[in-house]
Amino acid sequence: MRINVHAGHNPDGKPACGAIGFIQESTEARKVKDEVIRELRQMGHTVYDCTCENGSSQADVLSKIVAACNAHTVDLDVSIHFNAGAGDLAGNGRTTGTEVLVYNTAGAAKPAAERVCASISSLGFKNRGIKANTSLYFLRRTKAPAMLIECCFVDDKDDVQLYDAQKMAEAIVYGITGMKVSWPAEETQDKEAATSGAETATGDKKEIYRVQVGAYSVRSNAAAMQKRLQAGGFDAIIVKA
Ligand SMILES: [Zn+2]
Repeated sequence: MRINVHAGHNPDGKPACGAIGFIQESTEARKVKDEVIRELRQMGHTVYDCTCENGSSQADVLSKIVAACNAHTVDLDVSIHFNAGAGDLAGNGRTTGTEVLVYNTAGAAKPAAERVCASISSLGFKNRGIKANTSLYFLRRTKAPAMLIECCFVDDKDDVQLYDAQKMAEAIVYGITGMKVSWPAEETQDKEAATSGAETATGDKKEIYRVQVGAYSVRSNAAAMQKRLQAGGFDAIIVKA
């Protein structure tokens, strides 16, 4: 896939820097955005970072973001935001939760938007669902199917306690791609590697770098690729994920 990703708003301390609560929208959206981009690229997707770091006003930030988005031909435009307005400063034991805005709930972005909502809510955030919004400049003016993710609320103590930038990013990536970037448990992989006679990690066990060639839902297709690689002189193992 080719995907545009950006964090909403200017950086903190500049005009139009977004919602502020227990955490600051602008800063957290950038953390999540960076991790989403890293993971998508790791999976082999082409990703453009369309974040604006130097807008002079809200209108300027938005027009710079949309111009950057529309400079690339992509399958999806993704805008990462945090919500405000919950006002649950004491914490009532319930999150206010996550929602994803799309221009049109019958549009091309709908399936991925619904998956992102479901994926984030599986972390424990209330699923507020997808919402149509035809007035937001980003949704109105971008050319590709677009979604604006409101990860969770910056002014709800429960949301903020549950929130973790890395997990949020993983959930978004899973929603967009249907794939998890994290690999199965180490033991499983080591066992598979051992039975195939391949070498396991050298060095720090926590850091194993794999080179992936393909992912197949049918084992025989994986085996066929393994054969081709072995014929080419590569040690290839099949790992079930
Ligand atoms: Zn925002």
